Amino acid sequence: MAQERMLKFVTVAKEMPEKRDASVRAQDFNEIYREYAEAKAAEQASRCSQCGVPYCQTHCPLHNNIPDWLRLTAEGRLQEAYELSQATNTFPEICGRICPQDRLCEGNCVIEQSGHGTVTIGSVEKYLTDTAWDRGWVKPVRPQAERTESVGIIGAGPAGLAAADALRRAGIQVTVYDRYDRAGGLLTYGIPGFKLEKDVVMARIAQLEQGGVSFVLNCNVGEDLSFDAIRGKHDAVLIATGVYKSRELEGDGAGAAGIVRAIDYLTASNRKSFGDEVAEFDSGELNAEGKRVIVIGGGDTAMDCVRSAIRQGALSVKCLYRRDRDNMPGSQREVTNAEEEGVEFVWLSAPKGFVVGAGVEGVTVQKMRLGAPDASGRRSPEVIPGADYVEPAELVIKALGFEPEALPKLWGVEGLDVTRWGTVKANFATHATSLPGVYAAGDIVRGASLVVWAIRDGREAADAILEYLSQPAQVAAE
Ligand code: FAD
Ligand code: SF4
Ligand code: SF4
Repeated sequence: MAQERMLKFVTVAKEMPEKRDASVRAQDFNEIYREYAEAKAAEQASRCSQCGVPYCQTHCPLHNNIPDWLRLTAEGRLQEAYELSQATNTFPEICGRICPQDRLCEGNCVIEQSGHGTVTIGSVEKYLTDTAWDRGWVKPVRPQAERTESVGIIGAGPAGLAAADALRRAGIQVTVYDRYDRAGGLLTYGIPGFKLEKDVVMARIAQLEQGGVSFVLNCNVGEDLSFDAIRGKHDAVLIATGVYKSRELEGDGAGAAGIVRAIDYLTASNRKSFGDEVAEFDSGELNAEGKRVIVIGGGDTAMDCVRSAIRQGALSVKCLYRRDRDNMPGSQREVTNAEEEGVEFVWLSAPKGFVVGAGVEGVTVQKMRLGAPDASGRRSPEVIPGADYVEPAELVIKALGFEPEALPKLWGVEGLDVTRWGTVKANFATHATSLPGVYAAGDIVRGASLVVWAIRDGREAADAILEYLSQPAQVAAE
């Protein structure tokens, strides 16, 4: 009987939730997709063929039990579907919105592979959890028993918050330290509202607070409070500080006014969305309004910058990327969204230098072609001699990726091993670092990655910390 409701992919076409018209959505920072109605979510879930070996699940970093919660959604058993989906994912509504599903679950759905269009897994996941919030099914954590052990978490991004949630469920006393005035990490200050509205993130933080997680904000560890002090206060520590050191550009004029870092630009824009006073935005330094904008880079950060600039009222927005569309790291779905909103992509182009007057006035662009594949198999860009030209711009945004800050030096910690890339060295399964009782998770271990991986790391690290705290030596040390 259950099967009768499923396997509808031949008769029911793939349908994403309605996307707001580009001319309308480009005027605000609200999310671009509307919600499914209940019947539509059930219909789309019913397209799943209930694979015996579900590749969607294998390629979801959290190994979500996708076929089962799709079936329950198709059957109208929404609360059960939600319970199942939240059992493996701390923030399903966030992943449903911002996972690059085309590279993860949906990209590996057999229905997609057979040419029928993927089951819209992310949109159903979002629908389920949004419905759960609306109907009061999402509750603050209430541990069965409180424990005396405490864990200090440095960094309130998805890795730290996922660990905080799991540790609180086990009754551990949890304190999360963050240098910003709001928790959420890049969910709050990196990713723009048109992908992830801020009240979605703030609702989760409130839920964690109501569940007993303590937040110490405006606390830059290493400056306001030492790492050793945190270690001395808690039975175990999790480092989840992310990666924030921007890769820089070289070339004549690279330090000119008007050439800014993506993270500064996006943080200012997100702060404005919260209604904060942002001097650098109000002065025009980090505001694209009325300017010709060039964003340099081809990843998700670049996509967020170009689309933010459109919404701020830029005169024109161009994205320079040194490879072509097929070889860019950013999601194809985001490129399409950006193009619809008026962004122009200038493929096979790299900055050579900058034309500078009182501030930046243009970018000297080198044209590229793709040469032989490098060690990773990607074709390397090569300069086409004599094809340079100048592209005028009053604002240039550098979105070339992020590297880790040198934590051991910054924090004056001896014995915290890092890799040759500067990321914290941690065991892949337990996330234990070289210091006893100190764990690390998320981007600070992986390098710039994805929210869903940060959640997985945070959950796994919490399991390992619980194991560590239950060892007799730890109890004796109490
Ligand atoms: P973060 O989210 O970076 O959180 C780290 C926290 O640690 C921050 O709050 C920071 O303030 C705090 N911190 C750092 N140092 C200290 C210190 N010394 N003392 C106290 N606190 C400190 N991923 C997706 O899956 N989908 C997307 O669409 C997507 N879009 C992105 C867009 C942008 C612009 C960027 C930059 C990234 C995007 N990502 C996306 C990647 C994703 O945001 C990260 O992989 C994820 O947030 C990493 O989580 P984290 O918890 O490790 O670190
Ligand atoms: Fe897909 Fe991400 Fe949800 Fe996993 S968490 S099912 S990858 S949207
Ligand atoms: Fe359903 Fe696609 Fe997953 Fe198969 S791979 S179980 S069809 S969502």
